[in-house]
Amino acid sequence: MALVTYAGFPRIGLKRELKRALEAYWRGEIAADALQDTARALRARHWKLGRDAGADIVPCNDFSLYDHVLDTAVLFDAIPERYRPVFANNRLDGYFAMARGHKRGGYDLHALEMTKWFDTNYHYIVPELHAGQRFALRGDKPVAEFLEARALGIYARPVVLGPVSFLLLSKTSDRSQPLTLLGALLPAYTALLQRLAAAGADWVQLDEPCLVLDLDAAAQAALRQAYAALAASSGLKILLASYFGALGGNLDLAVQLPVNGLHVDLVRAPEQLDAVLEALSPARVLSAGVIDGRNIWRSRPDQVLPRLQRAQARLGAERLWLAPSCSLLHVPIDVQAETALEPARRAAMAFARQKIEELRLYADALAGGAQAAASLAAQQQRLGAQAQLPGVVDPEVRARLRKLGPQAARRRSDYAQRRAAQAKALPLPPLPTTTIGSFPQTDELRQARAAQRAGKLSASDYGQRMRAEIERVVRFQENIGLDVLVHGEPERNDMVEYFGEQLDGYLFTQHGWVQSYGSRCVKPPVIWGDIARRAPMTVAWARYAQSLTQKPVKGMLTGPVTMLQWSFVRDDLPRATVCRQLALALRDEVRDLEAAGIRVIQIDEPAFREGLPLRRADWAAYLAWAVECFRIATGGAGDSTQIHSHMCYSEFNDIIEAVAAMDADVISIESSRSRMQLLEAFVRFRYPNGIGPGVYDIHSPRVPEGGEMLELLHKALGVLQPQQLWVNPDCGLKTRNWSEVEPALRHMVASAQKLRSELRL
Ligand code: GLN
Ligand code: ZN
Repeated sequence: MALVTYAGFPRIGLKRELKRALEAYWRGEIAADALQDTARALRARHWKLGRDAGADIVPCNDFSLYDHVLDTAVLFDAIPERYRPVFANNRLDGYFAMARGHKRGGYDLHALEMTKWFDTNYHYIVPELHAGQRFALRGDKPVAEFLEARALGIYARPVVLGPVSFLLLSKTSDRSQPLTLLGALLPAYTALLQRLAAAGADWVQLDEPCLVLDLDAAAQAALRQAYAALAASSGLKILLASYFGALGGNLDLAVQLPVNGLHVDLVRAPEQLDAVLEALSPARVLSAGVIDGRNIWRSRPDQVLPRLQRAQARLGAERLWLAPSCSLLHVPIDVQAETALEPARRAAMAFARQKIEELRLYADALAGGAQAAASLAAQQQRLGAQAQLPGVVDPEVRARLRKLGPQAARRRSDYAQRRAAQAKALPLPPLPTTTIGSFPQTDELRQARAAQRAGKLSASDYGQRMRAEIERVVRFQENIGLDVLVHGEPERNDMVEYFGEQLDGYLFTQHGWVQSYGSRCVKPPVIWGDIARRAPMTVAWARYAQSLTQKPVKGMLTGPVTMLQWSFVRDDLPRATVCRQLALALRDEVRDLEAAGIRVIQIDEPAFREGLPLRRADWAAYLAWAVECFRIATGGAGDSTQIHSHMCYSEFNDIIEAVAAMDADVISIESSRSRMQLLEAFVRFRYPNGIGPGVYDIHSPRVPEGGEMLELLHKALGVLQPQQLWVNPDCGLKTRNWSEVEPALRHMVASAQKLRSELRL
C-alpha cells in the first residue's frame, strides 16, 4: 500500500507553547532545561499526532528552537568567528546570539540577517560564510531527534536541508560564491548521513527547494556533484525533496541524480505529474505532494484521486508515497480546535492534522478501501455545497470591479506636482523622522484587547484605554522630536487580522497560528467570500490621534497585496481578483481618512516582494496586478495627501522598477541588518520619490547608538539625494520594549539632527 508521510510539522505548538518557553528563557525566567523539556514534549506530541492521524512515517529534525536554516549552519559549524566566544560559553546562547543579537557580558553582537523563506511568510536566518570556510559536523541534532522518536516507539525519517539549497540560501561576507564551498561542505554532510545510518535510519530526506528555481549551470553542476558524493558514501536512501513549484527545466537533472526517491509539489504544479512519471527511473520512489501544505482548504477528491490513481498505475503502490506539497510548517495544527467556527465552514478546512488524515483516506481509497472512498465522495459533496453559501459571491462587489476604469489606478498628478502640493500642506524639516506605525505592545494593551473580546471590558472602557495609550504615544513622539507621528496601533493585534475582522468575506480562527520567525507567529485570517468594507475601519483612532497634536499623524493601513499574501486565500478565484476586491475596500478607507483631516497615509506592503513568483518568467504578470492593486487603493487620494508605503525586506534590486511604479510619495524599507545593501539597487536605478532606508534593526533587542545610525545615513546619501531621504526604523516597534525603543528613537532623532547640521540643511 502507498505510504503516507509528510515533510515537516509546525513547531510552535497548538497553544504556542514553544513561543512562551522561548520568550521566558530569553527573559531569564526559565532555565535551558525547562526550554528543552518543552521542546521535547512538543516533538513527542507532534509525532504521536502525525502517527495517530494516519502517517506511516513521520519526519524528525523538522523541529527547531528558532529556525532550521540556522540549525543547519550550526550543525555544520558555519558559525562566524564573532559568535564563537558566546558559543564556547554556552551553546544555546551562542545559537540565539546568531538569531537575535547579543548585547551582554561585554559582547555587542548583531543578529545575522533574516529573510523570507522562498515565497512564504516564514523567515530564515541567512548563514554567513566566507571563502575558505571550513565545515565540520558539530552536535547531533538530527541523530538525537531520530533516537528520541525511536525511544517513543516511532520510526521517523530525518529531514535535513540539502547542501546546495543551504549554500544558495547563504551569503558570504566577502562576496565570494557560496557554491564554491560545496567541496568543503560535503564531507560534513556525509559524516551526518553516516551517523544517521549508524543510528538505524534507512531513509533521509534532503530538501532542495532550489530545484523549483531557475538554476544556472553552476548550481546544476553543484547538485550533480553533491548527490553523486552523498549517494556513494552515506549508506542511506535519499529522498530528494522539491517544493513550492514545478521542477520545470530542472526535471531532467532531478531525475538523473542518484537518489532513491523524489518528492514533487503537485499542488502548485499538478501539470508536472505526467512528465515526472515518465522520467522517473524504475525502482525510485515518488513522494507525491498532492495536499496543499500552504493553504487550509480541504483537497478536492475529484482532482486528487485521479492523479494518484495515475501515479499508482504507473509506479505500483510500493513506489508511491503520499504527502503534502511541502512541510506543514506553513499551516496551523488542528481545525478541530476551532470550536467557534460555523460547522459548515470548518468542514471545508483542513489544518496539519486533517491534511495527514486526508492523505490516509487517499491511501486507503487507492488500496481499494470502500469506506475511505465513501468519505472522499462525501467530502467532494460538502465542498460543492460550500460554494453555494451566501457571501461567497457579492454581486455588488463584482459589479463595482467590472466598472473600474484604468484611471482609478492613477493619482491625479505626477510626483513632482504632488511633492509641491505636499510641501505646502505639510511643513516638514529636511530628513524628516518618523516610525513605521506600531509602538510596543505592552501586556496591559494585550489584556485590554483580550478583555474586550471576551466581553469583560465595555466598549467605552476599552476606547478610553486605547485613547490613553494613543495620547501617551503621541506625547512621547512629540517629546523626543519626531516629525511625522503615528498613533501606535495599540488596538491592533495583527496588521492583517485587524482589517480582516472589519471586512466581509473574512473569517478568523482561534488557534490558527503559523510561525513567522523565531518565537513570532501570525494567525492568518481566512478569505472565503467576496471582500466588502462595511464601515470605516481606522478613522476614529486616526482622527483622535490627530486631534492631540499639530504635527501630522500618519493614517495606517495594510495594503491589498499584504492582506492577500498574509491570509489564507479562497482557491476558487484568481488571487489577482481577490486582491482587487481588497484594493477597493482600502480605497474607500483612504478617502474617509482624508476627509477626516489625515494628511499622511501609510499603506504597508511588507509582503509585496514575498508574492513574487519563484520563477522569473512569472514575475511580470504578478507585478502588473500587484502594482495595479496598490494604485487602486491609493489612486483616490488628493495631491496634497502624502501616501507612504512600507516594505520589510532588503532584496530590492529585482523589483525596484515595480516599487517605483507603485508611485507612493514616500517608502520606508528594511536595510539596517544588511548594512544598507539594498542601496545597490539605487546605483542602477534612480528612485524618484521619497525613501527611508531603515536605520534601526527592530528585530533585535539590541539598542543601536546614534553613531551607527548616522553612518548608515551617510551610506544612504551615497546614492540618494538629501531631499528624498527619510529617517526611520526598519519596521514597526510592536515586538520591542519601551526600554529599548525610547533610547533607540532618541538616538535616531539625534542622528537626523546631526546630519541636518552637517549638511547645513
Ligand atoms: N505599520 C506596521 C507596524 O508598524 C507595519 C508592520 C510590518 O511592516 N510588518 O507594525
Ligand atoms: Zn516592516
